[in-house]
Amino acid sequence: MTELLDNIRTSLVGLKMPRALEALDHTVQRLEKGEIGALEAIDGLLGEEFTLREGRRIGMALMTARLNPPKTLESFDFTFQPSLDRHRILALAQLDFITRTEVVHFLGPPGTGKSHLATALGVAAVKAGKSVYRSTLAELIEAMSKAEREGRLVDKIRFYARTALLIVDEIGYLPITPGGANLFFQLVNARYEKGAMILTSNRSFAEWADVFGDPVVATALLDRLLHHAVVVQIEGASYRLRAHADLIPEHLRANATITPPPPPKRRGRPPKRKSADQ
Ligand code: ADP
Ligand code: MG
Repeated sequence: MTELLDNIRTSLVGLKMPRALEALDHTVQRLEKGEIGALEAIDGLLGEEFTLREGRRIGMALMTARLNPPKTLESFDFTFQPSLDRHRILALAQLDFITRTEVVHFLGPPGTGKSHLATALGVAAVKAGKSVYRSTLAELIEAMSKAEREGRLVDKIRFYARTALLIVDEIGYLPITPGGANLFFQLVNARYEKGAMILTSNRSFAEWADVFGDPVVATALLDRLLHHAVVVQIEGASYRLRAHADLIPEHLRANATITPPPPPKRRGRPPKRKSADQ
């Protein structure tokens, strides 16, 4: 008996299974008392180790994917955002859009949960073992510009094109640096029909020519990003400001913020259908 236990310990050490090793004595005690059977004992030991490893793997993957702080769909209050179809979001969480290499757009005013939902889907993807990377558009363009200056653009694009899911957050908040639209186009092109994306924006597609400062590139971007797309439009109040709604001037409340003062004259092609839904 002791010899057998020693063997098991040696094996667990050799296999680098610290959690199972830790749980061994207690499991054996329960086994001897007849509280559990042999299969349950094996299941318990392996389960402990597996949980530990999964937790570690997910933690690492969330960091690599830059999904911190992680958000979940469970912590999303759908009652606060009635314009949002809960079932549609839960369907997205099944992650078939990733295998189908689709593009999910979350559109809506600030604070309506676009980044939260994008991150939560990213977290679900990581848990399902998919490779994910999240970045704001500004960060993405800055990193690509830097790579271009250093002659590493091809590698950089390859890096961003590699993940099963790329989340590009905050399209439309910050002005795009010159050449930025072009760099983003190269990335979108590299991923087109090869990998899924989630994009979040406070601006409508009609405004992309202004967002990207170039109607030709904006049209080419939309062409690819709306081809196999799911568009989720959120129309509601800011969750960030929910406690202070009375302090916000009327014209800035709720979805008043999504449409900034009358858009400048639109150039280029008219926008694609708004809901290029699946
Ligand atoms: P957006 O990206 O649309 O500007 P965020 O997703 O960043 O908004 O949301 C702002 C903050 O409010 C985040 O901390 C987010 O977790 C939280 N939040 C937004 N909407 C909800 C909601 N419906 N339920 C719970 N938390 C929410
Ligand atoms: Mg956001």
